[in-house]
Amino acid sequence: AKKKGRGGYRFYSPDMTRAASRRVRVEAELRRSLDERTLAVHFQPQVKLSTGDVVGAEALVRWRHPEWGWVSPGHFIPVAERTGMIHPLGREVLRAACVHASRWRSEGLQRVAVNLSPVQLEGEGLEEELRESLAEADLPPEALELEVTEEVFLRDPDRASRVLSRFREQGIQVAIDDFGTGYSSLAYLKVLPVDRLKMDRSFVQSLPDDSQDVAITQSVATLARELGLEVVAEGVETCAQARFLRETGVQQAQGFLYGAALPPERWEGILNLSR
Ligand code: C2E
Ligand code: CA
Ligand code: CA
Ligand code: CA
Repeated sequence: AKKKGRGGYRFYSPDMTRAASRRVRVEAELRRSLDERTLAVHFQPQVKLSTGDVVGAEALVRWRHPEWGWVSPGHFIPVAERTGMIHPLGREVLRAACVHASRWRSEGLQRVAVNLSPVQLEGEGLEEELRESLAEADLPPEALELEVTEEVFLRDPDRASRVLSRFREQGIQVAIDDFGTGYSSLAYLKVLPVDRLKMDRSFVQSLPDDSQDVAITQSVATLARELGLEVVAEGVETCAQARFLRETGVQQAQGFLYGAALPPERWEGILNLSR
């Protein structure tokens, strides 16, 4: 039960109570799914624009609730972060990602990317988990990429730089997710030489017609080239977007044009087809 705060219950409207009890249910159900290991990890292809080859895959967690159906990660990841469940959840995703990356490498896949929540980065034990997952799957660190958002550099820039630098020294790759949406200064790109920028979907959506998005895309491509980074465009849905991105010097793309996140068993044909 909720502790009686300074204001007591006075400020709780029925709506707030309903929202709160919904939150509690989501939390309980998520915990149960974690315990029962019914969360799934799907993988979305990342394609090299010049050849169409599938070069990477992003691991995306999936939760199908028996009554509610598919629950969006945008809905339950914040719950997991608030309650600490992100740690066991993240561990499962990391494990699955490494195991499948290892299997698919022999079929030409270069890397698998995993989303890291800032909460995971701030916790203890992540380094150990990474080491274990890589070892268990017999995966070279170069084949694993960690996606972090600019938010980690706002929260605790020193710690983020320190931790991520250590991962990179071990050979693990680092990508900045949702690049351009974080309102952060670009100074972190100097302290933390990352490998890849993932250009946020919001800039891709209205390409090639929107002149502002065109300008932003060109700037990101130029910046990345100067810094020796690769760019992955997110949320690519049309051929016109893909063509524009390729012509602007963006190397890779991810989006419904190439495929949504698929369960691992549906990946069998994909890698062979692309070569
Ligand atoms: P994200 O990391 O930016 O992931 C990309 C999201 O865009 C995914 O949504 C993906 O399904 C969706 N997407 C991909 N291509 C397209 C497209 O062409 N058009 C549109 N409209 N959408 C596209 P999803 O799977 O719902 O995940 C939402 C967010 O939840 C992710 O955003 C990420 O921040 C978080 N998330 C997902 N899985 C994990 C995880 O395992 N760990 C953590 N920490 N966060 C995760
Ligand atoms: Ca991501
Ligand atoms: Ca993203
Ligand atoms: Ca996003």
